[in-house]
Amino acid sequence: MIISTYDADSLHRSFGIDLGEIDMGAVESMGVGAAWGRVAPGLHSDPHQHDETETFVIVSGRGDLNNTGTADLIFATFYWRDADRASRVAARTDRRRFGDRPVFAFSTPPTPNGGLHIGHLSGPYLGTDAFVRFQRMNGANVWHLAGTDDFQSYVAECARREGRSPAEVVAHYSAEIEETLRLMDIEPDHVTHTSRDERYPQALQAFFSRLVDSGRVTRQEGAALFDGETGQYLYEPYVTGGCPTCGSSTGGNICEECGEPNFCVDLVKPRPTSGTAEPREGTIIRYTLSLRELRADVLAHHHVGRAPARLRELANRIFQRERVDVALTHPSSWGVRPTQQDVPGHVIWVWIELAFGFIYGIESLGRKIGKDWRADAPQDDWKIVHFLGYDNTFYHSILSPALYKIANPEWTPDVDYNVNEFYLLDGDKFSTSRRHAIWGKDILGPDSVDGIRFYLALTRPETRRTNFTLAEYEKVVQETLVGTWQRWLNDLGARVERQYGGIAPDAGIWTPEHTAFLARLENRLGAMAGCLGQDGFSLNRAAETLHGIAEDTLRFARFEGAVADIEDWRDEGRTAIALELAAAKLLVHCAAPVMPRFAARLAAALGIAPPTEWPRTVTLVPQGTRVNLARQVFFGAPPAPETPQAALLSYLSGLVRETLQLPEAEQVASATLVALGIKSMQAIALQYQILERTGVDVTVEDLLGDRTVAQLAALIVNNTDNADSLAQVRKEAVGA
Ligand SMILES: [Zn+2]
Repeated sequence: MIISTYDADSLHRSFGIDLGEIDMGAVESMGVGAAWGRVAPGLHSDPHQHDETETFVIVSGRGDLNNTGTADLIFATFYWRDADRASRVAARTDRRRFGDRPVFAFSTPPTPNGGLHIGHLSGPYLGTDAFVRFQRMNGANVWHLAGTDDFQSYVAECARREGRSPAEVVAHYSAEIEETLRLMDIEPDHVTHTSRDERYPQALQAFFSRLVDSGRVTRQEGAALFDGETGQYLYEPYVTGGCPTCGSSTGGNICEECGEPNFCVDLVKPRPTSGTAEPREGTIIRYTLSLRELRADVLAHHHVGRAPARLRELANRIFQRERVDVALTHPSSWGVRPTQQDVPGHVIWVWIELAFGFIYGIESLGRKIGKDWRADAPQDDWKIVHFLGYDNTFYHSILSPALYKIANPEWTPDVDYNVNEFYLLDGDKFSTSRRHAIWGKDILGPDSVDGIRFYLALTRPETRRTNFTLAEYEKVVQETLVGTWQRWLNDLGARVERQYGGIAPDAGIWTPEHTAFLARLENRLGAMAGCLGQDGFSLNRAAETLHGIAEDTLRFARFEGAVADIEDWRDEGRTAIALELAAAKLLVHCAAPVMPRFAARLAAALGIAPPTEWPRTVTLVPQGTRVNLARQVFFGAPPAPETPQAALLSYLSGLVRETLQLPEAEQVASATLVALGIKSMQAIALQYQILERTGVDVTVEDLLGDRTVAQLAALIVNNTDNADSLAQVRKEAVGA
């Protein structure tokens, strides 16, 4: 028996309350710990998470871990780490920490000063989309919220460069961004366009006024940089220099390299981005926040949700500074002016809009779906999940929670941060201004979107910088998706046709290898849930796991193939086929969040329902289902953007679809015309049209031979000596 008496003097502060250990003696070797706890009146335990199982026994006072009474609340807690239970909870990634709460997943609002390139797409946009799709399959109340960050100074700078108004720039690039997301099969549930939303400016002004009314954000005179010649206020895109922390070349206010904010006057050898005059240092009165004073609140916030180590390390670095005074208004003609009249010519800094835009987005979504969610009264019940690049970490995870603490002190925001690093293109940073980019709109189409999504999932920079090359992408599509997945699925379809008349057989007799293979598929299902769930979200691992399903099954199929046609082993043979079909069905569900278009098409080919629910277990394709896998083309040859070959392939694919009356979305590039069912009369018609358009006479034998449509396109390009006609095809393809 263990006897422990409560002793108020032995307590220490932990999780916001007072705790004192209880010596559990021999029982401790069984993994059980215990402690006394005290909550003073009006206090509560700080939110925290751990995976121990814990029991509280209240000994005196009133309340739970919120002391609602007038005397101390004394309790004893007993906790143990039940490894089985912890692993069960971890595997059940569907609802942990989320429950029935509304979950708001945000992809960082892009600045509409350019389109979306595949560097953008690989990070927050693909991440949020796959995350939301997986959560939805698990029954979570989840929404993808997006927006455009219209009042960025970079928009005004782009407008100056392009000789049009900021509003025109916003309208143009917002439309392009929306179109690119659509091509990527990403459809957010709500999009906020800050410069075109009628309610927005007033709501933002009210948020800013709450910051000012708190007394924490005050008018302060501070040092600032001005153009030596024009006197223009220099910040963000208008100034460049060395980062005061890491020395890298950087713009004003944030360093993409080390993630730390700068204040422009502290840049090493600053210079204006246009003009040659030396900048001069002066002073200016702006509304300013002493961020350092909110250190404890921001760090406490990082205990609530998922805050990756690299984010916590950045916060630690920034708060080591003695002062971090952040100006929250800046002189500009583009943005929302505060209602306060004492900073004439200033706008509310756009990074306040980021923080406010999230809760405003929730309010707007609520209005649409009939929920009374309000930006001025955010709820502890809300679960927010952010997807962002490392260069935005300061704004999302340090500045925003500080602003929330001031504007809505009663709110405890619960936020998960999913941060990605930089994606490089051919070893160099993607750059909109230098045109060092591959634009989503140039490479995405119904034939290529699944390949792009898979390749970006596989290679996106989750824990380190990674590199995109077009050649590597094309290789992965050809070898992994076409050469491995599609080949297996086609071959499986051919065997089901030959041996079972195209109908899924029932499993018969199970061998030990069959049982082992099913167990392996179950493991893959569990692994996939771990990759896509909120605790360990990783699309790199998800893509690897998808490929693992295909590889496992190919290995199994090769092994079982030895007895496939032996009559004596017929009952075992149909079990093997039923299990291969089960693997294909598993691929449907596991791929759905990552490659939704492929998953839906594979489901249709397998004769099963579209994948709307995450499976609890691996199941067979029902016996008797008609399977149509043998001639499916799931993955088109990836077109290199804006090459003659890509343009011609796009033209030829369209022509083939038209001639054979195939649906618009049908992928034809890596199929032969014969496989697509061409008749010889149609081949002659096709030959004539190609000749007329390109001047190249492709023989009917070539058309009916074993070249794929993509290879035929290459053949035409290589044989043309009429550059004009090719240029015309290109022009039409680009214009189309
Ligand atoms: Zn730096």
